[in-house]
Amino acid sequence: MAMGNVVIIGAGIIGQAHALTARAAGWDVTLLERDGRPLGASVRNFGTLWPIGCQFGPEREQALYGVARWRELAATAGFPLTDTGSLSLAYRPEAWAVLQEFAAAGGGAAAAFELRGPKQVAARFPAAQPAGLQGALFSPAEAVVPSAIALAALTRHLAAQGVALHFGTPVVRVHDDAVETSDGRRFPFDRLVIAAGEEMRLLFPAELAAAGLSRCRLQMFRTPPQPAGFALGSILVSDLTLGHYPAFRECPSTALLRARLADELPRHGEWGVHVIAAQHPDGSLVLGDSHEYASDFAPDYRTEVEELILSALAQFVRVPDLRVASRWHGTYLKSTRGVTQVVLQPRPRVTMVTAMGGLGMTLSWGLARQTVAAWRDEGN
Ligand SMILES: Cc1cc2nc3c(=O)[nH]c(=O)nc-3n(C[C@H](O)[C@H](O)[C@H](O)COP(=O)(O)OP(=O)(O)OC[C@H]3O[C@@H](n4cnc5c(N)ncnc54)[C@H](O)[C@@H]3O)c2cc1C
Repeated sequence: MAMGNVVIIGAGIIGQAHALTARAAGWDVTLLERDGRPLGASVRNFGTLWPIGCQFGPEREQALYGVARWRELAATAGFPLTDTGSLSLAYRPEAWAVLQEFAAAGGGAAAAFELRGPKQVAARFPAAQPAGLQGALFSPAEAVVPSAIALAALTRHLAAQGVALHFGTPVVRVHDDAVETSDGRRFPFDRLVIAAGEEMRLLFPAELAAAGLSRCRLQMFRTPPQPAGFALGSILVSDLTLGHYPAFRECPSTALLRARLADELPRHGEWGVHVIAAQHPDGSLVLGDSHEYASDFAPDYRTEVEELILSALAQFVRVPDLRVASRWHGTYLKSTRGVTQVVLQPRPRVTMVTAMGGLGMTLSWGLARQTVAAWRDEGN
């Protein structure tokens, strides 16, 4: 029995996760996307499911639920998911201290972090740079999903589940009980989800501005498929990344590490460069990124930033083919108040979900579950 109409604006991962979750709970669902296919942050990311970046507690639980859901859907909707885990490599003593503190804080069967010495790393992960390595932390929870392929498969799955899809259909106005699209059509709703990603100027701009959000642009690139016989072996990161994610903030040595990195790598700090290397099923490596905060951006793709990423990469991984096959920018909203997700209710029955920063793909299914459960608790 249908519970009412849900309209969702935006077919990125947040919109698609809400569409499938609401449909499974019995709602009639309509998904409206301005482009002919999703082209936002959701198809411009690393494709890494990244619980290790999430704070211990409810957010990590939400992330682990997300990974489990992605795994189920890889099987049912038909897209690749590679259980790579992640390997955080420490080259500075401060970074090695952070990893040991992190493992201790998250110890126990559920977290299952494994500290590894340089010899163990060399034996299991030959792509990792051995020079200067102090130690590493392997975490089995992370995985790689090629996001453009996954989203296309999810879209087909949504259609098969009876979600009404309207692509090439920009929403220009939200009325009390219906949204209006640029061609003048109205789609009535009992519940509305706005999952419009970084678009903060069109729908409820004042509410978004009041929530303390900034646009953040990131620079990324992809290598050609690596030669046969090369395997990255895991998602690889190192010292710069430990200063970046909320999960590491609680470690006492993180402040020391950040201070040393700021001193040694000021240009990396200026451009917000930290480096993730993820190998995709076609053998290519997706590499990035940088973080530039502004309300709008110059069009340049900056070669200096790419050089900063490459120089940091060379410190921790040996890649046989570092030619660049493609380059792109991605943009998302990020909270200036340090929170990793923003859920607003600008009007009754309207939910806006945004500002997951670099963790939205990981958190998407947990956020959708939370939104749809809240409707049930409200008694529709
Ligand atoms: C470079 C980069 C790397 C990242 N790496 C990771 C990672 O490895 N792991 C991870 O978990 N997260 C990662 N993220 C974050 C993650 O990709 C985002 O948090 C997530 O994709 C946000 O999804 P979304 O659906 O909110 O936004 P989007 O994917 O941007 O989707 C919003 C959609 O709304 C549509 N839209 C906007 N306005 C309208 C309108 N008026 N009418 C109709 N449609 C509209 C847009 O066309 C778009 O398709 C990364 C992000 C970037 C940019």
